[in-house]
Amino acid sequence: MSEKYDVIIIGAGPAGLTAGLYTGRARLKTLILEKATAGGQAATTDLIENYPGFPEGVGGFQLTELMKQQALEFGAEIREITPVATIEADGDDRIVKTEDESFTASSIIIASGSEPRALGIPGEEELRGRGVSYCATCDGAFYRDKVVAVIGGGNAAVEEAMFLTRFASKVYIVHRRSELRADKILQERALKNEKINFVWDAHLRKVLGTGKVEEIVVENKNNHERTSLQVDGVFFYIGTTPNTVFCEGVIDMDSRDFIFTDEKLQTNVPGIFAAGDCRANLVKQVAVAVGEGALAAVEVARYLEEV
Ligand code: NAP
Repeated sequence: MSEKYDVIIIGAGPAGLTAGLYTGRARLKTLILEKATAGGQAATTDLIENYPGFPEGVGGFQLTELMKQQALEFGAEIREITPVATIEADGDDRIVKTEDESFTASSIIIASGSEPRALGIPGEEELRGRGVSYCATCDGAFYRDKVVAVIGGGNAAVEEAMFLTRFASKVYIVHRRSELRADKILQERALKNEKINFVWDAHLRKVLGTGKVEEIVVENKNNHERTSLQVDGVFFYIGTTPNTVFCEGVIDMDSRDFIFTDEKLQTNVPGIFAAGDCRANLVKQVAVAVGEGALAAVEVARYLEEV
């Protein structure tokens, strides 16, 4: 029989790595499971300017690498796995299954984060990886002296549009309203950036191209006029969707599949907790994810003392 852990943490982003640091220090036998590379979405962020302690900002990859080292230092084990398929409670056991493996613990912290949402328009899926991207940090350098469009008006869209101006000759921000949602400081910078061109009140309708992105079609929401823009790439930042498919039927979630918890971050299943971007919280920030990871870990330790 495989060994039993005190806690299994699903996801090695800021929430999961912080939880692992705390449960490791509590001398709980800790396993962190990760389907990709550690760091989560934060690791694909070029520069994080609102994480305390780094007045000059810090690279997302650099920050999460440090978090990973710290969790390992205090005894957490990190294991790369295929995506988690199911979780379940069976008596005192909390079981995590992937397609080919099964792990058992006395508790679980779900810190599986979220990923960029697709818009679901013609051409998006067909040209994914051939000009359609959801990660400027990963793909931006391919667009040196080229023209790209960023879809969305939130923090991610505006930050990533500014990152893309390092390479691209022109960056369109296509937003469905005439005002950005992003933090004011980001808005100010973007509005001043000469390489950024705003396409306001516009819905993206199609991505076109033969073999690679060549053109996008946007529609003005007021007069329904359609315009074609010649672009080499299009980056989608229209919000995120939580990685919680494996929770279906077991864990209570909201209408968008974010996980409900109580104030101790415990879900409807005793011994299963959730932290960070996958949780139904109002603010998606690295600082919040880290705080929730710490809180979930402390509550797991209390839970294990009581059972
Ligand atoms: P977000 O804040 O939810 O913004 C999504 C943007 O996409 C909004 O401007 C929204 O328009 C637009 N949008 C949504 N659905 C759309 C649709 N169907 N068609 C066209 N546009 C659509 O999400 P995000 O910017 O991807 O960021 C995700 C989370 O991470 C947020 O909580 C964000 O604050 C956080 N984050 C923070 C930072 C930072 O603090 N520096 C950086 C990156 C991400 P409306 O404005 O009209 O709703």
